Amino acid sequence: MAGQRQRSDAPTLEIQYIKGVGPKRAALLKSKLSIHKVADALYYLPFRYEDRGNPVSMRDLSPDVMQTVSGKVVAADVIDLRNHGRKVTDPRKFRPVKGLLFELTLSDGTGFVKGKWFQQPYLATKYKKGMSVILSGMVRYPRYGTVYEMENPSHEILADHQSDQSAAQGGGETVHTNRITPVYRTTDEISPKLLRTIIHNALSEAGEIKDYMPAFITEGLGLPGLEESLKSAHFPPEDADIDVLNSWSTPWQRRLSFDELFMLEAGFAVLKRGKLSEKGRVLASKGDLFGRLLASLPFELTGAQNRVIAEILEDMSRPLPMQRLLQGDVGAGKTLVALAAMLTAVESGAQSALMAPTEILAEQHYMNIRSMVESLGLRICLITGSRKDRPLDEISKGEIDIVVGTHALIQDEVRFQDLGLAVIDEQHRFGVEQRALLRKKSLNPDVLIMTATPIPRTLALTLYGDLDYSVLDELPPGRTPVETRMYVDPDRRRLFRTVEDEVREGGQAYVVYPLVEETEKSDLKSASEAAGEFREKLSGLKVELLHGRMRPSEKEDVMRGFKAGEIDILVSTTVIEVGVDVPNASLMLIEHAERFGLSQLHQLRGRVGRGERPSRCVLLAYGSLGEESSRRLEVMCRTTDGFKVAEEDLSIRGPGEFLGTRQSGLPDFKVANIIRDSRLFEPAREAAFSLLASDPELGKYPELKEALENFWRGKVELFKTG
Ligand code: ADP
Ligand code: MG
Repeated sequence: MAGQRQRSDAPTLEIQYIKGVGPKRAALLKSKLSIHKVADALYYLPFRYEDRGNPVSMRDLSPDVMQTVSGKVVAADVIDLRNHGRKVTDPRKFRPVKGLLFELTLSDGTGFVKGKWFQQPYLATKYKKGMSVILSGMVRYPRYGTVYEMENPSHEILADHQSDQSAAQGGGETVHTNRITPVYRTTDEISPKLLRTIIHNALSEAGEIKDYMPAFITEGLGLPGLEESLKSAHFPPEDADIDVLNSWSTPWQRRLSFDELFMLEAGFAVLKRGKLSEKGRVLASKGDLFGRLLASLPFELTGAQNRVIAEILEDMSRPLPMQRLLQGDVGAGKTLVALAAMLTAVESGAQSALMAPTEILAEQHYMNIRSMVESLGLRICLITGSRKDRPLDEISKGEIDIVVGTHALIQDEVRFQDLGLAVIDEQHRFGVEQRALLRKKSLNPDVLIMTATPIPRTLALTLYGDLDYSVLDELPPGRTPVETRMYVDPDRRRLFRTVEDEVREGGQAYVVYPLVEETEKSDLKSASEAAGEFREKLSGLKVELLHGRMRPSEKEDVMRGFKAGEIDILVSTTVIEVGVDVPNASLMLIEHAERFGLSQLHQLRGRVGRGERPSRCVLLAYGSLGEESSRRLEVMCRTTDGFKVAEEDLSIRGPGEFLGTRQSGLPDFKVANIIRDSRLFEPAREAAFSLLASDPELGKYPELKEALENFWRGKVELFKTG
């Protein structure tokens, strides 16, 4: 049967029909690993490879290296660490698992190795004396005794002792003890060996796997064919290099990652072309308004600002809708760039909107922009959720030139007479859908998206591949890098003195807390309590509190007072995270810095160092820090470069978390990894854009078109049907 199956059907075949699977295992594969069809199995790739052809003799192990050993079980014990290391033999006592340690001792005749798994007593039920077992992991000197140890190594029972006998027949022993063996993520119900066998069978029963990628593209890049790539990525040939495999750098692995990046970029190419066929309006002016604004400022534009403004104005002057991303580190001067665009729109007879992610930031922008444009005779208003007085009539009649606000801006009741330009600040908080909503507000306004989270270029291409891209890569002159220090369990008295000294020398200070009020459960020192403490200890100084639950007018008052220098110390929650601009503020204290994320810390630090005063950022952490928080704080002390910070953040958190769930709206990668495969982005983008330029409907490549539509399914309809 299997041999006669139509080739093209094989990948869409239910996994159940693969040898060694059957209905029961198929159900497990579906529910546990999302493997429904043969194709899912083919793309369920190993996350690691082990060299099993050459297990190291236990006599020859060396510490602090990843190694693989194989041997027979001499002891398998569960040990209760809370009870003097007593052995627990009764499986009914394996719960709760806390404090229980499973220890497996192997011997290969030359020596012994002990594997240790914390809180996993149930492993004891799998392992019996005399079984052949393979362990792979980091080798450590033991704390006691002389037997080398591995903590949480990967573990697998070798031949003869497996319950999945029927499956084992499929692949045979070579599948598992090949020189290089793939290691898959799996669950308790599906043993590594069973999964490996199933995937092996799926590969051999899938028949010829059709390559949908035009050969001139892959060959041009020296990438192998699809079938060869899939087969070798799962079961590498004998002479493959284990290190190259584990760094995902073989041609087969790169080919598979390339495919996904290509699909992503090809989708962007289609979306972008769709936009090009839409009608936009020409927004161009002589630049009188902006010229007058510049003349009133005490400084010159930076080279980067000039260049980026030119890029944007050029884009706005074309009869196509602009969709452009403006990136720049905190303090790079994005607001002025946005103003150049907004004033151009207004001068050419349209309205402009600026949308911010939080009320306090919208208020900040409003105050800031109003002070700059009112003398130009422009009318400006603020729309936020908590503001009741909304000049909706004036907006709809076109009597208001610039509308600043939060999401409330894109609600139905706000109607513009003629929205020409929408600026979205701090894009990382806006999803793809909101972008679309705003575009619907009027006949395709030009859109400028500003982000202060510097994103590595590869990531920008991933996230905003359908947008054009401008970077402000220069800070205004005269800025000195913010000196950053961290203290664990700081001495409070020294802290007060630090703040006091800064103010006495003419500066102002922010003190930031993660939460506003102490809740029963949390041990966070609340901002309001701290404000009281600072007032008490530094009685000569003016201390004010700012938090998200204050009324907008109260917040405005406090911000204005701080900006005017009437307030010395602003104690606040993270509401000041983005956008606030007080050049005289020169000290930033961040309490419980260990609880903030890296980009958040960088944003907060960006509130100081905005003027001529040398500035400092003091990170205060409490208790024993985890590895991740130490690393975050260490990065902060080491660099003030936002792009470096973002790259570190990305590598600490991984792309999924870095982007956040709000960034949904983009397809998921099964194979590609933004960091690891970053060098494949440019070729993928180039290949995709040029292919779609030459064949916009992919008429010559129906299989590629189908694969592309599948990749984007449920996210965006790429090709209009009918
Ligand atoms: P961000 O990019 O973080 O939004 P802002 O637009 O808030 O930065 O600008 C930060 C500060 O730098 C503001 O006080 C602004 O007035 C000032 N600024 C902007 N451009 C320049 C420049 N070319 N020279 C000097 N200061 C500038
Ligand atoms: Mg800003």
